[in-house]
Amino acid sequence: MSTDSSTTLQTFTCANCGATTSFDPRTQTLRCPFCGTEAAVRATAAGATVPEDVGKLVLPFSIDKDASIDSVRTWLGKSFFAPSDLQSRSTLDRGQGAYVPFWRLDADASSEWEGEVSETHTREVSRQFTDSGGNSGTRMETEEYKTWHPRSGTHEGNHRAWVTGSTGLTQVEGDQLMPFPEEGMLTYSADAIAGYSVEEPGVDVAGAWAAGDPKIQQMEHDACAVEVERLTRVDTRLSNRQAAVCYLPVWLFNYRYDNADYRVLVNGRTGEIVGKRPTSRQRVVLTIAAIVLAIALIVILILLLR
Ligand SMILES: [Zn+2]
Repeated sequence: MSTDSSTTLQTFTCANCGATTSFDPRTQTLRCPFCGTEAAVRATAAGATVPEDVGKLVLPFSIDKDASIDSVRTWLGKSFFAPSDLQSRSTLDRGQGAYVPFWRLDADASSEWEGEVSETHTREVSRQFTDSGGNSGTRMETEEYKTWHPRSGTHEGNHRAWVTGSTGLTQVEGDQLMPFPEEGMLTYSADAIAGYSVEEPGVDVAGAWAAGDPKIQQMEHDACAVEVERLTRVDTRLSNRQAAVCYLPVWLFNYRYDNADYRVLVNGRTGEIVGKRPTSRQRVVLTIAAIVLAIALIVILILLLR
């Protein structure tokens, strides 16, 4: 365990899921917010170090714990394919709020593109025809055709990509929690995160760019594609790269149903819920049976009415 010199936060790496979390030992127990592991603590923190020149921002929670519990309970009762007693028979743990790291990557893009635009022309062509009376012959008809002409140009843009820096959440969970509102970010400080666990990034700045670069290239490619009817080539140079770690607010819950555990996440800003629900085999089978029956009835009706 290591102590951050500027604050009283303590950092530990979960031996079970690998997430590195900082927490305030005065107000919180040492429990991994991602998997609930309490005892297994490694001696040293294994999170990626954030360089000094990288900005650190915090987006405060705006949805409190009680509200997120209510919405998770409602969500448990809302799925048609889930067992009907999922809401009443599942047990929800006490949950934990955590700031989860996401990399915010900004870059300027400068592109040279090549493409083609079409021109539509008309021409007269002679066509064979046969009329209803059986007479045939040829007549002139107007036909449209296109010609393609090369174009080239330059494009300047700036783009922002988000990359999950979390070890505790999967990449898919991180993507599903997006988007978070970008207004209201505070500079990282002990006060800004007080009362919550904070996960340290498990992805360093180079790893973040490795994932973010293709996203930004794609955004720039899409922007160039708007410039011309058919884009054939884009050369993009990225510059002025800015990376910041944004600690985004997430409520983490686990619930137990039929001896299985499920994780549910609530975006602490938008209330978006991300999680898995068990499916009821009975409901799925009944639904398929109903669809098959409906199709059979329609077929029978069609046959009877012929
Ligand atoms: Zn864990």
